[in-house]
Amino acid sequence: MMASLKKGDCVTVAIEDIGDDGAGIGKALGYTLFIKDTVIGDVVEAKVVKAKKSYGYARLLRVVEPSADRVEPRCPVARQCGGCQLQEMAYPAQLRFKQDLVRNCLARIGGLYESDYEMYPIIGMDEPYHYRNKAQFPVGTDKSGRLVIGFYAGRTHYVVECMDCCIGEPVNRKILESVRSFMEENHISSYDEEKHSGIVRHVLIRTGRHTKEIMVCIIINLNKLPHSRRLVEKLAGIEHMASIMVNVNTQKTNAILGSHCETLWGQPFISDRIGSVWYQISPLSFFQVNPIQTEKIYNKVLEFAQLTGAETVWDLYCGIGTISLFLASRARKVYGVESVGQAVEDARHNAARNGIENVEFFVGKAEDVVPAFYEEMLARENAGDAVAGQDIRPHVVVVDPPRKGCAESLLATIVQMAPERIVYVSCNPATLARDLKYLAAAGYVAEKVQPVDQFGHTVHVETVVGLQRKDT
Ligand code: SAH
Repeated sequence: MMASLKKGDCVTVAIEDIGDDGAGIGKALGYTLFIKDTVIGDVVEAKVVKAKKSYGYARLLRVVEPSADRVEPRCPVARQCGGCQLQEMAYPAQLRFKQDLVRNCLARIGGLYESDYEMYPIIGMDEPYHYRNKAQFPVGTDKSGRLVIGFYAGRTHYVVECMDCCIGEPVNRKILESVRSFMEENHISSYDEEKHSGIVRHVLIRTGRHTKEIMVCIIINLNKLPHSRRLVEKLAGIEHMASIMVNVNTQKTNAILGSHCETLWGQPFISDRIGSVWYQISPLSFFQVNPIQTEKIYNKVLEFAQLTGAETVWDLYCGIGTISLFLASRARKVYGVESVGQAVEDARHNAARNGIENVEFFVGKAEDVVPAFYEEMLARENAGDAVAGQDIRPHVVVVDPPRKGCAESLLATIVQMAPERIVYVSCNPATLARDLKYLAAAGYVAEKVQPVDQFGHTVHVETVVGLQRKDT
């Protein structure tokens, strides 16, 4: 009978593989174990925490022999914090992991092999630290009554103290220390999720990568922050401070932000740019967290779209219109579609701010809006108004869906509209592969695949794929 493992057993394991979530994988007595915080090539001692029939999960106790790819994490709480999964892995090994993840998903789920497409080497970051322009720090109180600002431990709402997260901006520490001393001096409590009492829930900090402008937004469980003038006195003198705000969230909810904001000092927004396009960013609006890598992604979109200036382009899942505005100067007309109304308002505002006139934005789900337009296009063409029909008919369609990928009905409509090219921007290789399989069956060949690392030390990877319609 095959030996089995049970909860509590301690074993020595050689790590031979890595799962999609970044956990190392090794075998003990023929039994597969997933062990977080380990790296391929490590030999480790681990304790089984969960045992299923043929596999289980174990907790790393000690590294017996470190892998050549193992490094000392910069962050002292890398293991506890739920934010980074790969900090103990050397950056070049992280990039190999992400490239393999894309390659394997395309093969396993999409039936696409490297002999069928060109795989470009992953674009890594020049500096994989201090890259995030946005951080939301929960505020809590520990058992001894001390205020703690940091991050939630993996899968819990327990706050681990961490004021200088090494993937965030170095200035965050100074800001958070000021907020903490303001709270201590003025007896302002942290929010208690279970009792739904207390005041300060989170501190949101955003910075403009190019402008250096800083926004601090305190999220509170009250309509007004007591002694707010004293907070302003502490923060306003910090170099590049541009906006100090309060956001009211009195709901018992996991959502971080409420819908109402108030400006305590400065402007209610900061500005930043991607390429040469400027954006105004308010506390509630979505903005890419790594604008340096985002610019590289958008340049790939531009390259794969092969625009000459004569094309009609549809940018689906357009958010605040970042890709639409980036492509506008190289296209005849860009249509953006986005389901969140506020984002579309921002998109229109950003177009006006940059003096870009050949873009138009629509609110609604892409799978609803695009078929409606397709019908209109056909109706106009059937009525002999081929010019108006061609105005809508896309030469290039860009999609940038959330993790769940595109609705199949949307893919079906895109195929019917028969654009020359499709550019697929994805934050999830598994759903990307599923959608590419559908498109391949409908005559769209994935020719070029470009993975990009936007989120160093995490398991996330972005991929840009250029598809071409096959001549039939
Ligand atoms: N392209 C943008 C945003 C990408 S994030 C950028 O690069 O910044 C994905 C966007 O899709 C989000 O803004 C989300 O609100 C939107 N979204 C989600 N489901 C959608 C749907 N069914 N139809 C249209 N937009 C959707």
